[in-house]
Amino acid sequence: MLPIEKLKGSIGRPINLYPLSPVAMTVFALAYIFLTCNETFWSIGAEVFSGHPFSFAGFVAAVFFLMLTLSAPFTFPWTVKPFLIFLILLSAVTSYYMDSLGVVVDRDMIQNVMVTTITESKHLFTIDLVSHVMLFGLVPSVVVACVKIKRFSAVRTIATPILTTALSLALAAGLLMTDLKTYSSVVRERKDYMSSFQPGMPIVGAIRYAKMMMRSANVTVAAIGEDAVKGASYGPGRKPVLTIVVAGETARSQNFSLNGYAVDTNPRLAQLPVTSFHDVTSCGTATATSLPCMFSQFNREDYTFQKGISHQNVLDVFDHAGLHVEWWDNNTGDKGIAARVTQRSLTNTDNAEYCPAGECMDGIFLQQLSDFAETIAQDTVLVLHQIGSHGPTYYLRYPEEAERFAPACRRAEFKNCTSEQITNAYDNTIAYTDAVLAETIEFLTTQHQLSTALIYVSDHGESLGESGLYLHGAPYFMAPEYQTKVPMILWMSPTFKQQFAIDNACLSAKADAPLSQDNLFHSLLGMLDIETDVRNPELDIFETCRNHQKVASN
Ligand SMILES: [Zn+2]
Repeated sequence: MLPIEKLKGSIGRPINLYPLSPVAMTVFALAYIFLTCNETFWSIGAEVFSGHPFSFAGFVAAVFFLMLTLSAPFTFPWTVKPFLIFLILLSAVTSYYMDSLGVVVDRDMIQNVMVTTITESKHLFTIDLVSHVMLFGLVPSVVVACVKIKRFSAVRTIATPILTTALSLALAAGLLMTDLKTYSSVVRERKDYMSSFQPGMPIVGAIRYAKMMMRSANVTVAAIGEDAVKGASYGPGRKPVLTIVVAGETARSQNFSLNGYAVDTNPRLAQLPVTSFHDVTSCGTATATSLPCMFSQFNREDYTFQKGISHQNVLDVFDHAGLHVEWWDNNTGDKGIAARVTQRSLTNTDNAEYCPAGECMDGIFLQQLSDFAETIAQDTVLVLHQIGSHGPTYYLRYPEEAERFAPACRRAEFKNCTSEQITNAYDNTIAYTDAVLAETIEFLTTQHQLSTALIYVSDHGESLGESGLYLHGAPYFMAPEYQTKVPMILWMSPTFKQQFAIDNACLSAKADAPLSQDNLFHSLLGMLDIETDVRNPELDIFETCRNHQKVASN
């Protein structure tokens, strides 16, 4: 019978394509995923194996047979279709992020997606993504669903998955043995190559994420710095201290004119007596890692999610020392950092004017702050967790009238914007942060009843299309400096400097020194003269810039 007659005869029933065995079906599906969902994997591979086509072919074939080994246990007639449809849909989604935005879907990225809010993540569900998934995921899934599965005897049905596992594993091993030295160094040295493979990395990432969550369930939080007390700077008859810590979002150091950027993104802060530290490295490349890490006592090398959630952080140490601590959030939450202090989340019920699209712009902090400052009677640390420059919808981060650089990209899909428009939109977010920080500082300047200071640090940076990368969250080992160099800006009122006997010139001399978020925990304690064993003076940038004698005589 001709195929067309078969189709005709099947009207009203599933399309009767040629029946395939589960293994053949799996081979076809994997070949499809290799060919259509792995553009980045192929292009990095061509570069890695440049001039060695046979090695390249051998390696890809080995990866293919490894995938077949892992898929073989699902090649029973009743499991093969759901399994292959899952693989195809997953690859279609993750390949969109990898191939069009350079975003690696690994454990940390999955964690980011899981902890992010719906208002924030909705910007990632673009028409582009949906049409990509329809074409590369849904259409082939329908084909898989319609193909008829060949049935065999019970013995053959059970034996085939076992034999396929053994055979494909042997083939993969055999292929890798042909040039083990090259292949093992590629796997070791070129993690960017292996992490671009779909759906390998997302599956490994999901397993690692599940393991991490299981280990962290029912965790107990260990107290730290319970010995903390206010130092000699807190003499009698002084004013209450208000320190604002602005936890920035997605601001990269390179786009701050205070740090040498040619575009004037810091017109307001440039007029104020601030110190901008030019060379500060972040702990991670995404909020879920960087934010808890920067407030923790752990250095980047020691920090793990597990350690972070099982230990108190610098906010708790302030609390132990008797300071009042508040965390105000205009982002996706505190990631557990403020679990034991006063928290509030700013929403459009606080001031709808700043929240036209559901999310609020950071200007919302200002009005709340003026109400709050009037009530302060005790020493206070206030953390403002910004939305900052969070993409891809940069244009939603600032009011239209605050647009300084045009034309700016006003869509969530980067491919509809030129690189100049994307950079303009991003620069507008930095200029808006500049204005928010400057207005906060100007407000603090008027609060003569308080001793005030402000420190701003971003959690991580952002890629704006350099080397084909967008957004952030690249695995740290391969992250460009655009994602890991963050701005850090300090302002102190004259009263504050005098109270804590801080030598501004000494701090300014450190503006070019290599610093990192590792310094933050210890420097915050040092800045506020909190005496505790958990402060490491070597990481405290204020340690050598304080007149200790003057403090004692205060
Ligand atoms: Zn972030």
